[in-house]
Amino acid sequence: MKKDLIEKIKKLKKEKNAVILAHTYQEVEIDEVADFKGDSLYLSRAAAKTDADIIVFAGVYFMAETAKILSPDKKVLLPRLESGCLMADMIDENQILEFKSQHPDIPVVCYVNSSAAVKAHCDVCCTSSNAINVVKSLNAKKILFVPDCHLGSYAGEKAGVEVICYPGYCPTHARITPELLKEIKTKYPNALVLIHPECSKEALKLADFVGSTTQIIDFASKSSQKEFIIATEKGVVQRLERDFPNKKFILPSEKIICPNMKWHSLEDIYNALEREEHEIFVDEKIAQKAKSAIEKMIAING
Ligand code: 13P
Ligand code: SF4
Repeated sequence: MKKDLIEKIKKLKKEKNAVILAHTYQEVEIDEVADFKGDSLYLSRAAAKTDADIIVFAGVYFMAETAKILSPDKKVLLPRLESGCLMADMIDENQILEFKSQHPDIPVVCYVNSSAAVKAHCDVCCTSSNAINVVKSLNAKKILFVPDCHLGSYAGEKAGVEVICYPGYCPTHARITPELLKEIKTKYPNALVLIHPECSKEALKLADFVGSTTQIIDFASKSSQKEFIIATEKGVVQRLERDFPNKKFILPSEKIICPNMKWHSLEDIYNALEREEHEIFVDEKIAQKAKSAIEKMIAING
């Protein structure tokens, strides 16, 4: 029974001095056992601060890698190793080196949705919630941005900086086309559109608010409006429906699901913690360089 399993995980966490970090796109039931729940920036900060011996990451591979880089002495477990990020996989070490050589002597901002090996070749990381501040903080006229072309162009436009973007993107957010949003807006003319900056520029133009998963949840919770079109992954809509039953949340299409975020089940979390398996390791030299880019981001307010 699910209830028993939840209790078993909680007990095991105490015995092993472990914490569970869960991203907002995870299956909602994972929240029942999570110590920290939120967007990438919040989870990075939580991973940096915890004094637990074991971190179980209910998220995708790059998130667990980031936690390991920030807490090298802790055991970091990813319950299902298949949980990669399709956008992060669009750029590898050779491709970042090639991109940099095509545009020499320009600072590089790296979205955290990338491998440690890619982060190691960048100046500073950012997440969807602090990308504008990070871009501004460089005080540069021109920057390179990897791998998300949409977040890069959005942050550059808002920060007033010329951005040369690597052509990566998120296949899940690419399904939120401007045509789809227009169609949904016609059906729900009073709803506010809250969107994730991984969506295209044309889709962002149709929105009332742009933000990370946590920023979208905060906006909807504080707004006096009652109806919202939530232009990001389904997990955000499910959490909003659970926490604010008096408001209406519309997912533009049932296809807005990130399959890689849905691998981990409660059973997988229990097994990983009990057997201490699926541990994440990062090469020390790569980790040192990537850590500097991640820590620079964490030091930037916002
Ligand atoms: P957040 O930083 O908004 O949680 O986004 C992470 C992500 O992978 C979105 O696709
Ligand atoms: Fe990666 Fe897109 Fe999934 Fe986010 S939603 S983890 S960017 S594939």
